[in-house]
Amino acid sequence: MKCRVCRGPAVIDIRRHNANFCKEHFLRLCRDQVTKTIAEFDMIAPTDRVLVAVSGGKDSLAVWDLLLDLGYDADGLYLGLGISDYSDTSGQFAKDYAAGRGAKLIEIDLPSEYGFDIPAGAKAVKRAPCSACGLSKRHLFDKAAMDGGYDVVVTGHNLDDEAAVLFGNTLHWQTDYLGRQMPVLPARNGFPKKVKPLVRLGEREMAAYCVLQGIDYIVEECPMASGNKHIGYKEALNAIEATSPGTKHTFYFGFLARAAERFRDDVEAERDALLSCARCGAPTSNEVCQFCRLSERAAGAQPVKMSATRTKSPA
Ligand code: SF4
Ligand SMILES: [Zn+2]
Ligand SMILES: [Zn+2]
Repeated sequence: MKCRVCRGPAVIDIRRHNANFCKEHFLRLCRDQVTKTIAEFDMIAPTDRVLVAVSGGKDSLAVWDLLLDLGYDADGLYLGLGISDYSDTSGQFAKDYAAGRGAKLIEIDLPSEYGFDIPAGAKAVKRAPCSACGLSKRHLFDKAAMDGGYDVVVTGHNLDDEAAVLFGNTLHWQTDYLGRQMPVLPARNGFPKKVKPLVRLGEREMAAYCVLQGIDYIVEECPMASGNKHIGYKEALNAIEATSPGTKHTFYFGFLARAAERFRDDVEAERDALLSCARCGAPTSNEVCQFCRLSERAAGAQPVKMSATRTKSPA
């Protein structure tokens, strides 16, 4: 197996590119793909202050590493979800990476700061754990970005994630979600700009990137993930990809090029119609936002008010 670029010994094959790469040229490929994605979708300006949502897993640590190597001013944000040992372990990987790299990591702990954890929160509002978790993460990432004066929030969603979400949304024709499934969501009405620079890179490539860069990450899945439909969609797409390499890429980028625009109007109208949450000030379609309702039912916790204005803090 020889590297496509230098003909030296290859360490990875990427079937959808029909090519193999040595360590140096694989790492360069990852950087080039991220650079291309950032430029193509106008994700991050060189002077932007960037907040990376870091879980301790391979994707979020890889995207943080890539952005730092590309010269971006990128801080990390770790959210402790109170999911038994999993949260302690994943948090440690995030802290270790930040310490080793000399990067700034902001930490928010849901149980100690908001008085509930994800399993208890999900139970209190009779939601699936991933649903309670997703809305909590969105709310707290947005709040941290607005409070900290960050220009953009980065998440580590990769091609496999986005193709699986698209697959699920298409199977159920969830047109509101389809309208939101862009690699960039612009800042608007109290929401920060959100971007996904890894959409051209797959899960296996991100694991390889971490191994080759010497980045330790949590390998085990979140214990709440079992039964999550997203995993089933990933497995179905993996089976198709195994016989038709490149299918995930064509599915996702074909959607962006030919279909995503058709679902945008509903989302724009929805965003324009948002109110401010009566408790915390976050944008919401109801009087009280979903996070405040969750937090009140789970812990009776008093939410923290979101800042109304953004202040630039020194880089
Ligand atoms: S698997 Fe579900 S509960 Fe666990 S971190 Fe992901 S979204 Fe949250
Ligand atoms: Zn090479
Ligand atoms: Zn609220």
